[in-house]
Amino acid sequence: MISQAVKEALQKFIPAENIFYKEPLSKHTTFRVGGEADCFIKIKNEEGLAALAAYLNKVGLPFFIMGNGSNLLVSDEGYRGVILQLGDAFQEIRVQGERICAQAGALLSKVAKTACENGLSGMEFAAGIPGTVGGGVMMNAGAYDGEMKQVVESVVVLDREGNRLELDNETMEFGYRTSAIKSQPFIVTECRFKLQPGQKEAIAAKMEDFQRRRKEKQPLEYPSAGSTFKRPEGYFAGKLIMDAGLAGKSIGGAQVSEKHCGFIINTGNATASDIKKLIGSVQEEVDRCFGVRLEPEVVFLGRF
Ligand SMILES: Cc1cc2nc3c(=O)[nH]c(=O)nc-3n(C[C@H](O)[C@H](O)[C@H](O)COP(=O)(O)OP(=O)(O)OC[C@H]3O[C@@H](n4cnc5c(N)ncnc54)[C@H](O)[C@@H]3O)c2cc1C
Repeated sequence: MISQAVKEALQKFIPAENIFYKEPLSKHTTFRVGGEADCFIKIKNEEGLAALAAYLNKVGLPFFIMGNGSNLLVSDEGYRGVILQLGDAFQEIRVQGERICAQAGALLSKVAKTACENGLSGMEFAAGIPGTVGGGVMMNAGAYDGEMKQVVESVVVLDREGNRLELDNETMEFGYRTSAIKSQPFIVTECRFKLQPGQKEAIAAKMEDFQRRRKEKQPLEYPSAGSTFKRPEGYFAGKLIMDAGLAGKSIGGAQVSEKHCGFIINTGNATASDIKKLIGSVQEEVDRCFGVRLEPEVVFLGRF
């Protein structure tokens, strides 16, 4: 619950039309599930974000940064606090020689397209990842042997008091689907990529090839959050799940995709609880069959 005093204070930082109360998060996640957030704010600019973060921190109101919601499982009970989305106002992508500076709300696919148009190679892997730059940095998103770690030169972040810092690649501590942002609650506002000159046609062909492979192998026709589990060392999550006989296994409207067992999909009327239960059931069965504990890649938000 957001008190009247807090509601009034929020409007000092953000125009009222960008503040939504009891906002269904199912509208903002690619799984298409999730209950209401007490408050959902579309951030207009970095100054507003810094002031708001400092205020929320001071009054002790929990807040969570959302990108494109493509790696999130939000509880059916929603989120008791404030969701901050760096959307439309954080879309700028600037090309400076072999570098691209992109704001955190820009889609990775747009950065990849811009790189291609400017004859810059390195971002091809990101063309089909449906996340934002901020989410991609936080997750060290990657595909087809590419990952953010290889192309990020530096990242501009705000801390929870609203202070601005610039972190270089090493300080970001990128690892497999993780970064320093997982342990330190920074807000990514901008990222500088360092790319290599390349041939536009070759870059475009590589991106098209990756897209074709995704369409062929992944259940893109259903809502999901991509690969549900991280790749366990020495194995592939999808293969373990298939070999455990779990292809097509359903709980409510959640299903282990038959097209790609590494994806849990929403077949239409799944709840977050269905998906969470199916994740648990897959973990148990794979552990029982092969002694491998699958770790979710998906980020959980709210009470399960
Ligand atoms: C069909 C499909 C295919 C996918 N394929 C891939 C793939 O090939 N490779 C891959 O790595 N992922 C893949 N994903 C998962 C997802 O797209 C990535 O993890 C992506 O990087 C998440 O970005 P997002 O903006 O959607 O983040 P969200 O899902 O909104 O958030 C994810 C995490 O990042 C944090 N975050 C978001 N923005 C910021 C910010 N500005 N500052 C600080 N923290 C922030 C959130 O708080 C949250 O903890 C796929 C998902 C789908 C649905």
